[in-house]
Amino acid sequence: MLTYETWAEPDLVFDETSDTKGALEVLEWAYSTYKDDIVYSCSFGIEGIVLIDLISKVNPTARIVFLDTGLHFKETYDCIEKVKNRYPDLNIELKKPEITLEEQKEQYGDKLWEKDPNLCCHIRKVVPLRETLEPVKAWISGLRREQSPTRKHVNYINKDEKFQKVKICPLIHWTWKEVWRYVYKHDLPYIVLHDQGYPSIGCQPCTQPAINMDDLRSGRWVGHQKLECGLHESTSVTK
Ligand code: SF4
Repeated sequence: MLTYETWAEPDLVFDETSDTKGALEVLEWAYSTYKDDIVYSCSFGIEGIVLIDLISKVNPTARIVFLDTGLHFKETYDCIEKVKNRYPDLNIELKKPEITLEEQKEQYGDKLWEKDPNLCCHIRKVVPLRETLEPVKAWISGLRREQSPTRKHVNYINKDEKFQKVKICPLIHWTWKEVWRYVYKHDLPYIVLHDQGYPSIGCQPCTQPAINMDDLRSGRWVGHQKLECGLHESTSVTK
């Protein structure tokens, strides 16, 4: 089994020309390889909705974890409920940070996301994901190459230096249009804010409608030199 500790260049070829551009084949390989030793960390953004549907076809009882910062939009929580109803066998968990928002305010002051969003993301996302991944060998992410310059070299299978796991990204070749075509074709539930100018949705204080629709993440952390929440920055990419 390929793990972070035994990492070697994966000698695997997936059919990028298949109906799902390799995604279903990658998921079949991932779940047959890692079985219970893999988790999907899902933000419930539109790519996440596609991945959940694909995962449900491969492993109907898969474990899916949402990093519940306590600062998400009501619409996001509404969507999670709809997804739970549609896929009752999936094991969907809401992972909370060690400290509450009240404790964060006492320790670091009010609205840490304005003063130091990197620290806020570290406390409310990075540490909870590290705890989630601690017992497993691999995790799944919905990154797509066209999303941003920071994601354009991501591969199906990546050595994740940050969390010291194998990171699997089945949707790397999907375009924005293909994601939506799949959602409409299968009548999938999604966060309704996507219809109101929010192509990328994170925590409420750090998410606005996109400023530039050519940059789908341009509504995230507006006014800060920040492009990622810290979950994907150190993925070592191999070709
Ligand atoms: S996205 Fe914003 S509110 Fe959410 S954890 Fe990061 S800094 Fe905090």
